[in-house]
Amino acid sequence: MSTADLTIDLGALAQNWRALDAMSRAETGAVVKANGYGLGVERVAKVLAQAGARRFFVAVAEEGAALRQALGPGPEINVFSGHMEGDTALIRDHALVPMLNSIDQMLRHVEALPGHAFGVQLDSGMNRLGMEPAEWAALRDIALGQGPRLIMSHLACADEPDHPMNAQQLRVFKEMTADLDVPLSLASTGGILLGPAYHFDVTRPGIGVYGGRPFAEARPVVHLDVPVIQIRELEPGETVGYGNTWGAQRRTRLATIAAGYGDGLIRAMGPRAQVFADGRRCPVVGRVSMDLITVDITDLDHDPADVQLLGADQGVDDLADAAGTIGYEILTSLGARHARRFIE
Ligand SMILES: *Cc1c(COP(=O)(O)O)cnc(C)c1O
Repeated sequence: MSTADLTIDLGALAQNWRALDAMSRAETGAVVKANGYGLGVERVAKVLAQAGARRFFVAVAEEGAALRQALGPGPEINVFSGHMEGDTALIRDHALVPMLNSIDQMLRHVEALPGHAFGVQLDSGMNRLGMEPAEWAALRDIALGQGPRLIMSHLACADEPDHPMNAQQLRVFKEMTADLDVPLSLASTGGILLGPAYHFDVTRPGIGVYGGRPFAEARPVVHLDVPVIQIRELEPGETVGYGNTWGAQRRTRLATIAAGYGDGLIRAMGPRAQVFADGRRCPVVGRVSMDLITVDITDLDHDPADVQLLGADQGVDDLADAAGTIGYEILTSLGARHARRFIE
């Protein structure tokens, strides 16, 4: 077998959720959109339900349907994109709770599924999803008459604790929800870390549960071990990979490993990335190709059978930094071709 081994530590996942739950002065939900941040929504959601999560968030109704199948009846499933045309049967058949984003969505929902549970998403300044203050002011009484289950908004800069946008959105959200007797939600992982003023009734952690920044105390959840296909010796002056971008300055031992951008390992990380062999750092050299990466193992005292790209020595954020992106993108890019292994 020459595909990489993607190991997902469900114990660490549950521990991360419990740690965020302990920090939340509110009910702690769990965001499992994009197939559980790329890790496999079925296993992820079941473990989080066992850990105590009773409310899950997904991006679109199709994800909600798959999640309902995994979880069975009981847990609440909130859909961020609301009630889109064509969603009605999925929302009804899988008991999903759409977070309605506009007057149009509200009308669609109450006409298609009168009496069916819903929530409302407000725009407190991010300008991505949700009703703007004026729209909400016009609709508020009608919406409240229908009994929304949750009213939420989302922070644009929660991973930057000192950013003035946080306090500004908090103020706008409070103004838009003043005197309402409906559960409220504002905080994702970053919002939980901003403190109790941001917690309201329900928190919505995602990335922290999966082991990423800004939850610095998170335990790593993802381990990616990649087999070495071939090892060769290079003389000084020989070059490696497409475009001859790297040349050996010394006698070099080079390992070719079985992973590349076709496996979601972002090509741009090339010159700054590294892998680990028994805890020792080995730089990636030359370009990342679709199926292969070349690694300088000259300083190792043995020939490794595999190397580690993600794990205790290097987390999703380290790899993200090398690629000029964020841990979220590393996670959701992984795994099209990897064998996934779940450990408890
Ligand atoms: C993705 C998302 C979350 C989770 O955010 P994290 O930063 O991963 O904790 C929460 N709320 C909304 C609306 C989201 O889109």
